[in-house]
Amino acid sequence: MKRHALYPGTFDPVTMGHMDIITRGANMFDRLTVVVAANIEKRTLFSAEERMAMIRKSTAHLSNVDVCQLNGLLVHYARKVGAGAVLRGLRAVSDFEYEFQMAGMNRKLAEEIETVFLMSAEATTFLSSRLIKEIAKEGGDVGPFVPKHVAPALVNKLCEG
Ligand code: ADP
Repeated sequence: MKRHALYPGTFDPVTMGHMDIITRGANMFDRLTVVVAANIEKRTLFSAEERMAMIRKSTAHLSNVDVCQLNGLLVHYARKVGAGAVLRGLRAVSDFEYEFQMAGMNRKLAEEIETVFLMSAEATTFLSSRLIKEIAKEGGDVGPFVPKHVAPALVNKLCEG
């Protein structure tokens, strides 16, 4: 299976958990596009541009990874660019229900697009952007959980607020 896959998410901000999925996905597919959700209900700490810039910087060493912003439906975008797969990461049972629903709905909308799941690596299974933001807000060190340049960006952003 070597072709173009999309890895969609909020990435607010990108974590070592996302990086694990991106790195492994980049080995599985010819091309991997990280798709950053822009029009989402949830309020994000970082703008779509900031989130994309952080992912671009963190994936600069991966030649077959690119980053784009999503405004409409993922399956429409997948069809437009000819991507045949959607990559998602699974951490715990708690991720399963939502992912199961999303994969099922995407299949209804576009049967030809497969959702592919990668189980999170042991070392990153407890990481989430939400927890990392909470730790950073309380002055905790998030250095080990995010790409190198993300920790200072978080501190700066939280200071702005
Ligand atoms: P969303 O808001 O769509 O859940 P996220 O940015 O939280 O977006 O995550 C994008 C994808 O990455 C999801 O499939 C999520 O399950 C996966 N993911 C997030 N954190 C981890 C992690 N620590 N290990 C593995 N997969 C992860």
